[in-house]
Amino acid sequence: MSVQPETFKSLLKAAAEQVIASAPELTSLDQAIGDGDHGTNMKRGFEAVLGKLDAISAQPLNEAFKAIGKTLVMTVGGASGPLYGSFFLAAGEALSQDKHLPDDLADVFGSGVDAVSARGRSQAGEKTMLDVLVPVLETLKAGAGQPDLIERVRITAAEAVERTVPMQATKGRASFLGARSVGHVDPGARSSCVLLHAVCAGLEA
Ligand code: ADP
Ligand code: MG
Ligand code: MG
Repeated sequence: MSVQPETFKSLLKAAAEQVIASAPELTSLDQAIGDGDHGTNMKRGFEAVLGKLDAISAQPLNEAFKAIGKTLVMTVGGASGPLYGSFFLAAGEALSQDKHLPDDLADVFGSGVDAVSARGRSQAGEKTMLDVLVPVLETLKAGAGQPDLIERVRITAAEAVERTVPMQATKGRASFLGARSVGHVDPGARSSCVLLHAVCAGLEA
């Protein structure tokens, strides 16, 4: 079994469109504990991805992931651009090295998560996108091949976003606020959830 190019293209399009539609929400979250640009950063990046949708999805999956990563690195900016960029570059690299989708989904996703952690010098518990990405990776590892995996990923991501609320940020701009970062959803955790939920919805459609 392999991921069909048309499937990949429609998932990528749906994910990009959802991020773009969520820009106002992401910006307002970042206004509370950051500098208020996460929505515009992500919108710019995923508009660039949409602009290259045909070219990206015409490539083999490994190259497509790397192209998404490069596009995000070049266009998103901020802290999140290099981090999301690293995720897709590393996932593409894993696919270049004998990993395949969907069979090796947990390994490929794990390579992306490891790259974010290395680039950000961060780990789960610091009120960042990793607080969604790491629990979702655990769900993927535990639930590989199970029929309700999509639903489990959806729930894991949504609950993980809410668990960032009581956390105090120790990485990124929000960490400058110290204890005042408590009581808010992390913007990058929310954007990771938006991306994952769009892919889940696309896979179920
Ligand atoms: P900036 O903070 O430079 O304005 P964005 O607003 O686009 O960049 O992105 C902020 C998000 O990036 C945060 O909400 C957090 O989820 C994520 N982030 C910031 N620093 C790190 C890090 N070191 N590791 C993982 N994620 C991080
Ligand atoms: Mg910001
Ligand atoms: Mg910024």
